[in-house]
Parts: sequence; structure tokens; C-alpha cells
Amino acid sequence: MKPVSARPTLTSSADEADADDASPYATINDLHRSDIANVTRRLLILFALVAGLVVACGLTYSLAWQSGIDHLRRNAAVRVDRTTSALKSTLERYESLPYLLAEHPIVQDALVDPTPANVQRANLYLDDLNRHARATVTYIIPLDGFCVAASNWRGPGSFIGAGYLFRPYFVDAVKGGVGRFFGIGTISQAPGYYISQPVRREGKIVGVAVVKLDLEWFQGVDASEPLVVTDDHGVIFLSSVPAWKYHTIRPLSGPVADSIYQARQYAQQPIAPLPVSIERTLEGNAQIVRIGGGRYAPRYLASRRGMGEPDWHLITMSPVDPVDADARKATIVTAFGYVSLVLLAFYWRMRRARVREVMRSRALLQKAYAELNRRVAERTADLSQANEQLQKEVAERTRAEQELRAAHDELIQASKLAALGQMAAGITHELNQPLAALRGFSDNTRVLLERGDQASARENLEAIAALTERMGKITNQLKLFVGRARPRNARAPIVRALRNVVALLQKRLQGVEVDITLLVADSGTRTLLNLADDHPELVAHCDDLRLEQVLINLLGNALDATADLHPPRISIEIEVADANLSFVVSDNGPGIADDVLPRLFEPFFTTKEMGQGLGLGLAISSSIARDCGGSLVARNAPDGGALFVLTLRRARVQTSHTTDPLTTGS
Ligand code: ADP
Repeated sequence: MKPVSARPTLTSSADEADADDASPYATINDLHRSDIANVTRRLLILFALVAGLVVACGLTYSLAWQSGIDHLRRNAAVRVDRTTSALKSTLERYESLPYLLAEHPIVQDALVDPTPANVQRANLYLDDLNRHARATVTYIIPLDGFCVAASNWRGPGSFIGAGYLFRPYFVDAVKGGVGRFFGIGTISQAPGYYISQPVRREGKIVGVAVVKLDLEWFQGVDASEPLVVTDDHGVIFLSSVPAWKYHTIRPLSGPVADSIYQARQYAQQPIAPLPVSIERTLEGNAQIVRIGGGRYAPRYLASRRGMGEPDWHLITMSPVDPVDADARKATIVTAFGYVSLVLLAFYWRMRRARVREVMRSRALLQKAYAELNRRVAERTADLSQANEQLQKEVAERTRAEQELRAAHDELIQASKLAALGQMAAGITHELNQPLAALRGFSDNTRVLLERGDQASARENLEAIAALTERMGKITNQLKLFVGRARPRNARAPIVRALRNVVALLQKRLQGVEVDITLLVADSGTRTLLNLADDHPELVAHCDDLRLEQVLINLLGNALDATADLHPPRISIEIEVADANLSFVVSDNGPGIADDVLPRLFEPFFTTKEMGQGLGLGLAISSSIARDCGGSLVARNAPDGGALFVLTLRRARVQTSHTTDPLTTGS
């Protein structure tokens, strides 16, 4: 047996030859290789798609984030610039106020000669000036460092009498410079910005004039994003986020921390470093910083501006989280778009493949359809041809049949003529003898009558009557043969018919062993039939006289066949079935010769000598059986002798018994 190719594709005959030649292992290897290549290709595509997704998402995130940060940076720059200039202009507005104070004689008088009157005047002046300038506190300090007059001279928290020797702004002014300082007030404990000027009288420094400004307003400036101001040491002293206040954005060195402490700049506030880590430095003095501990501490874009004088820095902190969120959103949108595009492309590819498949199927279908049409056309042509041939044959056969019928008719005509001749010869022979006898008997009778021998004359007349009866029988038989069938619905009680026949043939049956039995087909029981019993249930669909005629024929033939035998034996068996009744008449005669058997039922066929038989008995009997809806068949019995089976339809009889006495065995 050839190895079966595992390749499931259609191949041309050449390919098939190749496939047949190739080893099946090679084919399986090919299959594996193509499978592996397929899987690899798919994996590569998948990998490329995933890589594309990652790249697209990465790019989107980076671009979106960068653009968001740029935007944030620009906004922060504007804000920090605006706030810086606002703060600067505030400070500048008050810059000249201590100078004006220092030039005023009331102030100089109070410092040079601090009589109560001078001090009181100075207090009133400072109070008035402070109110008009909207400063927080305005005060003057003589060189001893203890405040002599202040704008808040009335209140319990007045600066008068407070010592300021340790304050840098005092030290700077005493040295002849301008003092600028931010710190927490020693008396008021309120943070403020201090600007100081030396007060000179006749070119000599006699004291210091100070203006304290409350910068807390600054904390309300555009508080949407954190805003801080650091001093020259990096300490946050102004902050829109209260928790960041008094924290340093860079570690303080020991001396610096000491000097802050000495100057009581931030009172007793502990200066702790703000937990800030720089993540990235951007152009334009901006940094991305994370404030607070941990990975998830908020990130800010810190934009810094230096104030110049004083050496402060203003820093805006713009939260980066919204930029991250926007970048993430853009990334998600890109990923979604990418996946949608890939799916769309996949769908389009599948659809194209399906369309291609449909087109291919359609082409195949069209091809198959065309092939089918061609075959149907071929087949139709074949059928048409066969039909024509058949019609020709039918015509020929019809013609042959007509010829046959004509020949048959002619034959029948010829055989009729032959039969007529035979019949004429038979009738002539049959009738001539009784006619001659009649003539003889009538002559004798006349003589006997003339003699007056009445008794002999009567005997002769009886013989004449018998002869005429025999002649009548011969003509009757002929009449029966040609005569019309009697009604088919007639019924014949068969035992009575058999009894009549036996009585009729009584003389001839003498010395013959006649065996009459009844066989019930259903049960298979066989019994001797007593003809004295009527058996009213055994009725055949047949005219009783015609049934008797058939039986006489069969028995007569059996008697003829066994005439020379010792002893002659005839068996009559009546087989009773539900629907049929059969007479099986057999004898121990010579049987029927093979050449005779096919012609047995032909009219006028006889093997008997001229005058012995007319050859009409079986022909008539067969036609009677047919007329009655039955049949008559002949064969040789297996153990010798002829066997005739007359089968008739059984008539249903309404008896007093509800069931068939035969079949029930009664
Ligand atoms: P006939 O009795 O006038 O010859 P039938 O039609 O009755 O006409 O019989 C035809 C022929 O059938 C007979 O001549 C005979 O040869 C043959 N035949 C009929 N019955 C028997 C039989 N029981 N045994 C042998 N031959 C028979």
C-alpha cells in the first residue's frame, strides 16, 4: 500500500506523482517547518505590535509630559516674575521711608535729647507717619540700642524700651549702611521686614530709624500654587504653605545657624531642612523637585527668581501631578488609538482575506457549476440519445409485436382450422360409433317389435337412450369448451361435489384403491375424509357442476392412466388453508412424459388413441379453474405417477360455530 500524503492541498497529477515519490516523513517535516514558520511569523508580528505600542506610548508620554512641563514652566515664569516684581515694588516703596525719618528734626531731637517732650513728639510723629505710610511699626533707636520712640507707643506691645543691639539691621545702620532684615519681632513675635537708616546730626550718627513691614499679605498672593520666599541662607520665611515656613531648602552651616540664632531672626523657631529632592534641572532656573518623603510625595516645578536687594529668592512651586495625569491621559488615548488602529487593520485584513476566500469559493462554485452544467448537458445528450434509441427500439418492438400478433393470429387461425379438423375427426369418430350402434339398435328394435318381443325391444330402447346420452355428453363438452363462463361468485360445497363425482364414477372405481384425505395446512393434521360427512365449512368459490366436471376429468384421466396397473391407486387429498382449498389428485400411473407436460393444457392435445380422448378435458378444466379465480397445475409426483393440483379460493361460510371446526381440530 502506498503511503498516504499528509498534505491537505489539491495537487496536479505531476504534484501527486512527486508526493507519491516523497517519503511521508519528509512531508510531515515540511508540515512542521511550515507550522513553526507560521508561529514564528505570528510571534514576530505580535512582538512588533507590542513594541510599536510601547514606543508609541513612550513617545506620547514623553512629548505630552515635555509639552505640559514647558507650558507649566512658562506659566510659572510669568507668575514668579509678576510676584517678584510685586514684592520688589512693595519693598522699594518703603525703602525711602526710614531715610525720610532719619532726616526729620523731631526724630533727631528725640535721639540726641530724649526728653519726655521730645520723645512724645517723636511718638506722635512716628504714629502719624506710620499710619499714612501703612507700615506696620515705625520706631527709632539711639546708639545704646534701646528704642526711645515708636509708632506703637500707646499699646501694651510697644517697642519703646526694647533692646535691638543684636539685630543686624541696627548694626548695619549704626555702621552707616542701610539695614534690611526679615525676622520675627522680639516684642510682637510677628514676622516682619525691617528697613533701617542711620540718623545723623551734624554728620554724626546718633541713632537708627526703623520701619517694620508686615509681609503676610504676600501669602494670599495667587495662592493657587505654592509660593515661597527664601532669605540669603535659603530659609523659607514667607510661604503660602504654612508647613514649609521656617524650613530651609539647603542645609545651614553651623556659623550661619549660629548667626541666625544670635540675631533671633526667627525667634525660637527651629530651622529644619525641607525634605526636598531635585529630580531634574530645567532651563530658565527651573527644577523638578519632590517635596516630602517617599516615592509618592508630590512633585513640583520650582521656578526661582532672585530679588537682588535684599538677597532673597522667590520660588513658585507648580504641581507636576496634573502634567503627569495629562501625559498619562494622552498615553492612554494613544494606546487606545493604537490598539483601535491595530484592530481595525486586523479586521480589515481579516475582511480582505474573507472577501478573497469568498471570491475564491465563488470562483470554485462557478467552476463547479459550469462543470455540473457541462455534465448535465452531456448526460442530457446521452439521455436524449438513449431516449431516441429507446423510442426506436420501442417502435421496432411495437412493429415486431404487431408482426408477432399478426403471425400469432394467423397461427391461431391455422391452429383453429387444424383443431377444427381434429375436432371434426374426433366428433366424427366419437359420434360414428354410437350412431352405428343406434342404427343397429333401432333396426333390431323394429324387428323385435314386429316379433312382439317387448322386453328385448325395451332393452334396446334403453341402450339407444344410453347412446344418445353419451352423444349428448360429447356435444355438451364441446358446448362447455366454447360456452360462456358461469357466474364467478357461485359456491360449491366440495365434499358434496366429491361425493357426486365418486358416485358417478362408481363403476369405474371398482377395484381401484382410492384414498381420500383431508389435510389442514395450518396445523398439518391429516385425516381420512368420510364422504358421508358434509363439511359445510369447506366451500369453494366455484360453480358446483363445473367443479364436478373438473374432478371427473382429473379422476377419469387418473383411471385411464392406471387402467393397466394392479392394483391401480388413486389418491385425493384436500388441502385446507385459510384462504384456499386444493384438490391434489395423484395416481400410480406412468406419469407425464417431459415433452407432454408443456402441452398438457392445450385444447385437443391428447396422447390417447383415436376415440379414447378428445384432448379437451384438461383444457376445459384449466379454463374453469381460471374462471373461478383459481388454478390447475400438473407435475410428476416424486415417487412416480402424475399429480394434478386444483386450487380454488375458499368461501367464507357462516356456520353455527364461530370458528373453523377444521382448524380448531373438531
Ligand atoms: P384426453 O383425456 O381426452 O386425452 P385430456 O385433456 O384430459 O384429454 O388429457 C390430455 C392428455 O394428458 C392425455 O391424453 C394424457 O396424455 C395426459 N394425461 C392426463 N391425465 C394423465 C394422468 N393421470 N397420467 C398420465 N397422463 C395423463
